[in-house]
This record gives sequence, structure tokens and C-alpha cells, in this order.
Amino acid sequence: MNLILMGLPGAGKGTQAEQIVENYDLPHISTGDMFRQAIKDQTELGKEAKSYMDAGNLVPDEVTIGIVRERLGKDDCIKGFLLDGFPRTVLQAEALETIMSESHRQIDAVLYIDVDQSKLMKRLTGRRVCPECGTTYHIEFNPPKRPGVCDKDGATLVQRPDDHEDTVQQRLQVNIQQQQPLLDFYSQKGYLKTLDGNQDIKDVFHSVAHILGELK
Ligand SMILES: [Zn+2]
Repeated sequence: MNLILMGLPGAGKGTQAEQIVENYDLPHISTGDMFRQAIKDQTELGKEAKSYMDAGNLVPDEVTIGIVRERLGKDDCIKGFLLDGFPRTVLQAEALETIMSESHRQIDAVLYIDVDQSKLMKRLTGRRVCPECGTTYHIEFNPPKRPGVCDKDGATLVQRPDDHEDTVQQRLQVNIQQQQPLLDFYSQKGYLKTLDGNQDIKDVFHSVAHILGELK
């Protein structure tokens, strides 16, 4: 099965990816891992990507697409793969279609974990950190014994600037705008499977399993 996993920050993509990879024995292919591997292996594309990154620039699409093509051409992808974090744009999605058809394959499903924005905000802004020992908490999902105080050393917990409401809101909006054209693209292709990510983690995975069961 050739799968793509999509979802906004806080949607629980990482957890679902872990479960899918474990239960279906597919390689988990994240963009970050692909870049790191290509750079480590010192492939031509890896070297090129590194030169852009070292200069603090975005890696151009054609380099990213080349790295994806190399990775999907490896032996462990013959039985399928789970792509995570790629594609990010319709241009990349079109390139992926080309890569697939070149190797007589196709995308079987795009799993989109859909979570209400209010819920995402709650998940993403609830993190608190201990400035002394670095332990992280979540006011709702992993609270300290006493509100606002570290269990280990009694220090007053703080919120990182990245987790402030306006910062999170802005980040979500950027992601929503970036994601919508891709959702439209995959919806038109008939690949898009939307999952209700407002449910418990295990119920979301239950829905994933149901969809994948129908694909087999
Ligand atoms: Zn602490």
C-alpha cells in the first residue's frame, strides 16, 4: 500500500504514523529523514540539498522531488510506504504522480486526520515546561500534581513563546492555507480519506485500519 499521511500540527500524525508502520510493516518516510539520509550518504542530490540548507535557503522543489524519487526507488518501498510531510504543494503532488507512474505504481490513499481547530489550539497551547529541569507537561493531558509547579523540583512552570496562543494561531493559519489546495487535489483524484481526528487515538487508528482493510 502506497500511503500519504496528512494533518495539521497537533492532529496526532506522529502517533498514527507509528501505529500504521508497526501494524502494516511499511517504511515511514518523512521528509526530514529523507534529507538526513541523502546528506549522510552524500548522494549528489544530498550534497545539493545541504548547500541550500547551509546557506539558510529553502531546498528547491526539483531537489526535494529528486530525493523523494531516490528514496521511493529503494527496495524497502516495493511493498509500499507511508509518506509523511511530503508532498507539501500541488506541484510536488503532481511530481509524485509522475514518479509513481514511471514505476507503474499509484498512491492508494491519502489519510487526512481532521481535527477541529479549537481542539488543535487546546492541544498546542497547553504545553508547560520546567525552566529548571526541562520536564514538559500538558495542562490537560499530562498535568503536574500541583497546577503550575514542577513535580520534580517545585519550580514554576512556564509557557514557551512558541506555544503562545497568537503564535500557534498564526502557525495553524499558515498550515491551513498551505494544505487546502493539496486536499482539493487529492479529493479530485479520489484518493482522499478523511478521518475524524477528534476521537481518541485508538479510535482514530481503528478508522485507519478500517480504510486500509478495504484497500487490501
Ligand atoms: Zn523541574
